Amino acid sequence: MSHFKHLFSPLRLRNTEIRNRILSTGHQTYLAEDGIPGERMAAYHEARARGGAGLIIVESARFHETSLTDAPDLVATDERCIAGYRSVADAVHRHGGKVFGQLSHAGRVSKRVRGGLRDIAYAPSAVPDHRFHTMPREMPTDLVQELVVACGAAAGRFAEARLDGVELVASHGLLFAQFLNPATNQRSDRYGGSRENRIRFLAECLAAVRASVGPELVVGMRISVEEVEQDGLDAAEVIAVCKQLAAARALDYVNATIGSMSGLGGSIHVVPPMDHATAYVAPKAATLRAAVGLPLFVAGRINQPQIAEEVLAAGQADMCGMTRAMISDADMPRKAQAGQLDDIRACIGCNQACIGHFHLGYSISCIQNPISGREHVLRPIPRAATRRTVLIAGGGPAGMKAAVEAASRGHRVILCEASRRLGGQALLAQALPERAEFGGLVTNLEHELKCLAVEIRLGTRVDRALVEALSVDVVIVATGAVPFQPEIEADESSHIVQAWDVLQGTAQARGRVLVADWRCDWVGMGMAEKLVREGHHVRLAVNGPHAGFNLQMYLRDSWIGRLHGLGVEVIPYARIFGVDGSTTYLTHIVSGAAIVCEDVDTVVLATGHTAVTTLEHALIGWDGQTILVGDCVSPRTAEEAIYEGFLAGRGL
Ligand code: SF4
Repeated sequence: MSHFKHLFSPLRLRNTEIRNRILSTGHQTYLAEDGIPGERMAAYHEARARGGAGLIIVESARFHETSLTDAPDLVATDERCIAGYRSVADAVHRHGGKVFGQLSHAGRVSKRVRGGLRDIAYAPSAVPDHRFHTMPREMPTDLVQELVVACGAAAGRFAEARLDGVELVASHGLLFAQFLNPATNQRSDRYGGSRENRIRFLAECLAAVRASVGPELVVGMRISVEEVEQDGLDAAEVIAVCKQLAAARALDYVNATIGSMSGLGGSIHVVPPMDHATAYVAPKAATLRAAVGLPLFVAGRINQPQIAEEVLAAGQADMCGMTRAMISDADMPRKAQAGQLDDIRACIGCNQACIGHFHLGYSISCIQNPISGREHVLRPIPRAATRRTVLIAGGGPAGMKAAVEAASRGHRVILCEASRRLGGQALLAQALPERAEFGGLVTNLEHELKCLAVEIRLGTRVDRALVEALSVDVVIVATGAVPFQPEIEADESSHIVQAWDVLQGTAQARGRVLVADWRCDWVGMGMAEKLVREGHHVRLAVNGPHAGFNLQMYLRDSWIGRLHGLGVEVIPYARIFGVDGSTTYLTHIVSGAAIVCEDVDTVVLATGHTAVTTLEHALIGWDGQTILVGDCVSPRTAEEAIYEGFLAGRGL
């Protein structure tokens, strides 16, 4: 008997029964190979189906020439895609899951780069977007009609590939939404003007899809309950549109989300970071569900089965999008059904390796789960033939992950941490405002260590004598990093402290503060927010074009908005070089000109880290195996630390 009565009840859409209410929403993975699904994508979705997902919606495919770009997106414009989709369908069906395909067109919301050049972006009208700075060209009417035909044809290919359904992406300010929206649809033909006309393109595409796929397949639509942008669709208009389509029996379900990609503010909601409340879209989805009367899916920070169960039990939705929850732990549904809730590696909403990789142009993964997105190469491996004793020096994310993997391989593992707590820099990150969830990374790893009975020695600094005394076979050095102290000209009256020390309470900021941020990531922004919330006047001087330059953009933009609201003054392109009493001297990193900041009582340094190499050097000449992982090799982020720890442990 499942702990989750609603979550594990089946849902019937037409003749398709979905085994539970857990959905992996369409999300770009950059796992496509030459524009079609291949082994990588099939392995990725198969892992989620094997883990118990009820429904997987494969990421959106381009259905017309006018939406193709250089990006490695799926393309469903010809028959080439059918075999690839079939391999995904077979992989998902093998494990009892259902799978839909998704079709989209970006319209104005794209840079539309082809061959390195910006190609023409077609949209309902020549209305610019605010994220990609694209001024589109108005689609001629015959092109609109050509798209309708292309949409139906692409859906027909999904049917041939034995998918169970088709979803059109009318969410996030993309082309279908641009037609629906009077602010972006200023046409005077039959596709613009009245609401009835603005709906026509979407309605004709849905009809073309139905005509292509026949009566058996499920046909649905994703839509933002509101776009949260200046010229975005509002909730009333979205409800009216959905009601009209429902009345016309054009849809089997509505998949609700929020936000728009047409501006930086609305984009945050596309993959909301950890500063957004869990399930925050569900109440708005409930309004849509009540008004429209169709089965309704919802997504948006539903990262735990308990939360999904609450959404379903409250009647806010019929299915929950739990995409990142399954990027972080593909087996989440199976574990939830078995009541193994503590075993679930919960997503922490960091956005770093899933959407973060995608925005950098790489295949998605997860900072906590290096296998994610790499299923095709990181296949399960058997236990080691020989049991070895492995000493791990350092209980930060790198050392913890190495310990988990080495113990999983059957080795005896001793994990030593010099401080009194496991977690390393993740403990500092979680102490910042709106970052508490980052600590989930530590909680998840601690639980895995406990399950594997890893011997943990806190308050134990590893040196060569200890290594030799324990007679270990392998030492994994994960000793991390300490704050880097740049050379700064400063007089004795200057009050300069390290961000780490302020966070740990071993140093205090007083009065008016300047945060010198070299890394342009969470440390500087987090310190600025913490101190301004504590009542300090705060300036944030960043060694880059803007604050959070090295953070995933949705996380960054949400944070920038908050800092602006709190009155933090951001000084871009600035590197600290001197402090003289209450005057701080910065250099403009491009022009070289001085930037002088008066009335600074405290300078807080967020100037990066330097590797701790003491043990590495002490072990030179030791005859066991030494492996270095994480920041002690070169200070980077938690993702690299965990990845290297994972590989080190797995390789033993
Ligand atoms: Fe969640 Fe972060 Fe993993 Fe993305 S990278 S799935 S946000 S834990």
